[in-house]
Formats: sequence, C-alpha cells, structure tokens
Amino acid sequence: MAHPDLAPETLRHLKALLAIDTRNPPGNELAAVRYLDGVLRAEGFDPVVVESAPGRANIVARLCGDGSQRPLLLISHLDVVPADAERWELPPFGAQEKDGYLYGRGAIDMKHMTAMSLSVLLDLKRRGVKLRRDLIFAAVADEEAGGALGAGYLVERHPELLRAEFALGEVGGFFVQIGRHRVCLVQSGEKGCAWCRLRCRGEPGHGSIPDPDSAVHRLARALVRLRRRGLGAHPTALVRRFVELASRDQPLATRWVLRALLRPGLRRAALGLIPPAQRRAFYAQLHNTASPTVLRAGDKENVHPALAEAVLDGRVVPGQTFEDFERELRRAVGSGVEIERLQWLPPLEYPCDTPLFYAIESAVLRRLPECRVLPYLTTGYTDAKHLDRLGIVTYGFAPMLNEPGENIARLTHGDNERIGIDALTWGVDVLREVVEGFCTAASPQAAVGSLLDGLDGPAGAA
Ligand SMILES: [Zn+2]
Repeated sequence: MAHPDLAPETLRHLKALLAIDTRNPPGNELAAVRYLDGVLRAEGFDPVVVESAPGRANIVARLCGDGSQRPLLLISHLDVVPADAERWELPPFGAQEKDGYLYGRGAIDMKHMTAMSLSVLLDLKRRGVKLRRDLIFAAVADEEAGGALGAGYLVERHPELLRAEFALGEVGGFFVQIGRHRVCLVQSGEKGCAWCRLRCRGEPGHGSIPDPDSAVHRLARALVRLRRRGLGAHPTALVRRFVELASRDQPLATRWVLRALLRPGLRRAALGLIPPAQRRAFYAQLHNTASPTVLRAGDKENVHPALAEAVLDGRVVPGQTFEDFERELRRAVGSGVEIERLQWLPPLEYPCDTPLFYAIESAVLRRLPECRVLPYLTTGYTDAKHLDRLGIVTYGFAPMLNEPGENIARLTHGDNERIGIDALTWGVDVLREVVEGFCTAASPQAAVGSLLDGLDGPAGAA
C-alpha cells in the first residue's frame, strides 16, 4: 500500500521551526508553539497550549483512537542550546541547505522529531486511519535547562494531557559503528543525577607559611583520591544486554573486549584496550561517576582560606540510590570531607521486551537487515525523567539514517548542527511505520505479527 511521501512536508516544517530562535536561555518557545498551533488548527486539531512563564509555552494535540489500548506519546522539546554564529558555516537560525544537509541549531536536538511527529500525526488524521490507542503529540519547552517549565510543568499541573503507556522522545534512533556492526541505538534508560558539593575546612592563616592541611590542600587531595579510585561498577541488565548483543558475530578480539567489560577481574584490562573517547563512554555506562565541575576557595592571595569547595556532577546507574552513591563517594574522597546533596534525579531503566520496542526493531531491520537495533543507557538526562513520574515507558527514538562516520554525539550541541535530508526522509518513513503499526494493532502480539510479515532470515531474530 503506497503512502503519501511525508518528506517534503516534514522538511518544510523543520525549516520553519529552525528559523525560529528558541535558544534557552531565554527559550521563547512560544513563537514555535504559535507556528505549530496554526498548522494543527488548519488540519482540524484542537491543540492545548500551556504557557508556563512569559514567552515559554508547550503544545499538546491528540488524535483519538478507540480507547482499547492506552495512548502513545510523541514528545520533543522546542528549546535549543546557544550557538556561536561565528563558528558556523551557515547561520544557526537560517535553516539553509548545503550539500544535502539542512543546517540549524536544533536540527538533531530535536526539532527534527517535532517536524516528523507532526507530519505523522497529520498523515494519520488525513488518511482516517483507525487507531486502537490515542496518539498524543507534545512539543515542550525548557528541556535544555531541566524541563521545569516544559515536561516537568505539564506532568505536575496537567498530567492528563500526557498520560500514556509509552512515549518516544530523545536520545536515539541514530546509528553508530561498533566493531563490524552498524548499530541503531534506542535509549531505554538513563543514569540518575547525584549532584553534590564537597567541602573541606582548614585553619585560616598567613599564606607565607605553608600549611599542608589547608582547606585547599585537603580538597585537592580528596579530588586526586576520587580520580584514582573512582566509584563502583554496576553493570545493569540493560548494559549487559547491550554488550551481549553488540558482541555477537564480532571478530574474536572485539568480542573478547566487549564481554570482558562485564567481568570484574577483566574490566580494567578491557577498558584499556578501547580507544580513549569510546573508553570513557563505556566507563560511564558501567560505573557511578562524579566529575568535578566547579571549584571555589579563597579570595585573597596571602590568606589560607577557611573553606574550599568543589561541585561534583555525580551520575548513578539504574538500581542505585543517592545513599549508595554517597557511600561510594565518601570512601573515594577519604575522611575530613563534607558532602552536601544538591540535586537528586533517580536513574531510569525500561524493559525492551515490549511490543513498541519490537515495532521499532522490525521497522528498522526491514530497511537495514544487516544492522543491529540495541537498547542503551544514556549517561545524560532527558524529559523521560519527568514522564517516568506518570509511569510512562519512554524510549529515545527519533529516527534518522545518519551517514556512517557522522558523529551525532559531536553534532549535538556542537558547531554546524545539521541533518541530512535523506536521513530525515528515512526517519519520518520509519516513524510513521512504527507509530501506525503500533497504534492500529489490536493487541501487542498482533502489532508484532503484522510488522514481521514478510520478514525472514536472521534480521527478525536479531
Ligand atoms: Zn535534546
């Protein structure tokens, strides 16, 4: 059955959104929300606009199903991080094309998902597709600053707008190379945030007389200890599954290294064999971590200060509590260091044996039978943290077929953020198949059955 090609329309919406400056701070998502509101109303939707602060707005639209299944939410954020125009080849808010790419701050983080979700929503309505579950479209503010005025605000004040069984959001749906496999990553969990402050105290005194126990020396020793010892390794079920699937059918050496990451006695050696950039990423997936990010002590050249402080960006793997983290941190930094908790956001981890995950896997593998679709744990945080409070299972899946070697992690928040036009064309086609298949299936089993039709060989079993 031929479907209308959603690519031109998606590209048009994406260009319109990229041309609206929604840098956060200050955000100004209201301008983007007005654009979306106009498009949705023209197509017969009755979207809800929720303003959380002056200029800050969220928009939610719903395409109703017959209610026999619980809703699917497509969520994206409209705010973007700042961009230094001097360093860009094309203006960050110019929405210009060059060599098959569309440039703009937000092209992959994540206005592309807003444009794709919008096109899929409109298409399903125009074709009168009978849905078993409501499809909810949400474009929200403030994700880049934690989401208090965006997803957090909606969850707190208007939970009925977002309540769903599953959600698709960031960060995933793009491709990386692991050994010989091209891998499509689907975020299925995120580390928790355990931000805290270390404080060391000492006797104030004259700087002309060295004091090895000054507050500054104590703090420096604590940070050196922390770097040397690190915190604990706790491979979760998700990370184990990722490693297990990624290591299959790899050359012997690659397979050994990947699997050794899960074995306490071999982990250090295995990490040592991985190139530095990837090593740090694997390390962060396996361990609780604490990175010093802010240092403060003293304000006079010739006085030992009474106090020295460091802020740590602590991150914990799923299954860990703040108390677990604090215990490890205390052991790592040694005695005489005060630890103050600044922020705690619990980690998340979702099962991958769900009909939605299978629908994603099938849609990708049908197009690229040689690739792998792997659930992964992200070390950052997303709006999934807010949605989790409503019991929504959120996967990071904003599909796009980036070129091999095109580093999505570096382009995100980096200079010259852009998306390949072909990557977007592929993405919206996949998103429609996943959403339509999942929302029209009578039961989870049927969803998988219909999507697997005509699929044979190893792809379906991967
Ligand atoms: Zn983002």
